[in-house]
Amino acid sequence: MAYAPLERSRIEGGLCKSCGSPRGDDGTSIRCRRCADEAAEKSQAHRDKMRASRLCIDCRSVSDTAYCGECRDKRSHHRKARKARKEKLGQCYDCTGDRLATTIYCLKHWAENTARNQFRSSSYATQLLELAERQNWKCYYTGQPLTPGLDMSLDHKIAKADPDYPGDFAFDNVVWTTRQLNAVKGAMSAGDFIAFCKAVADNAPGVDGRGYAPDEARTIHLRLAA
Ligand SMILES: [Zn+2]
Ligand SMILES: [Zn+2]
Ligand SMILES: [Zn+2]
Repeated sequence: MAYAPLERSRIEGGLCKSCGSPRGDDGTSIRCRRCADEAAEKSQAHRDKMRASRLCIDCRSVSDTAYCGECRDKRSHHRKARKARKEKLGQCYDCTGDRLATTIYCLKHWAENTARNQFRSSSYATQLLELAERQNWKCYYTGQPLTPGLDMSLDHKIAKADPDYPGDFAFDNVVWTTRQLNAVKGAMSAGDFIAFCKAVADNAPGVDGRGYAPDEARTIHLRLAA
């Protein structure tokens, strides 16, 4: 994936690779927003066309899968080599910036990838970072610290199954949580989940003198195991 000299000098100068106008700072890395959207559209149209005619996206040979075996191998080899090279340099997989200790990306590209996975567009990256800032990088429910790439999960306060679910792109319904918390919360809406946690706290053995205190329970368990 080498760039032509003109393209390279534009990219390094903070300009759009395709049209040479300033890139701005809205999440694009080699093109201005307009050219980036155009290129994404073109690429998607090409992919759709190749898929419909059962041709490999890269080499246009007949293929039942998106890429023929040879192109799939080439792509995987390229990805692995790039990953290894970037790791050695301590660089982000997508740019020359420093990578975070917990991911192969810098903060910006971690956010872009998360946005792409979650909302099918990297353009929501800024919103995700701003949300984390507003939460002081702490879990919305537990207040536990959040680490990008390690322990962050997006939760919908009003769950998808709820008839009042405001839609995937309603950002006032989205909060950052730890992965563990989100796994426990599952398909519950925030109110139900908090009531559920209260019920556990109030009723579980070892609380309020009902049932065993945790230490006592452990002693009994050890005695039974012996
Ligand atoms: Zn452009
Ligand atoms: Zn191919
Ligand atoms: Zn980066």
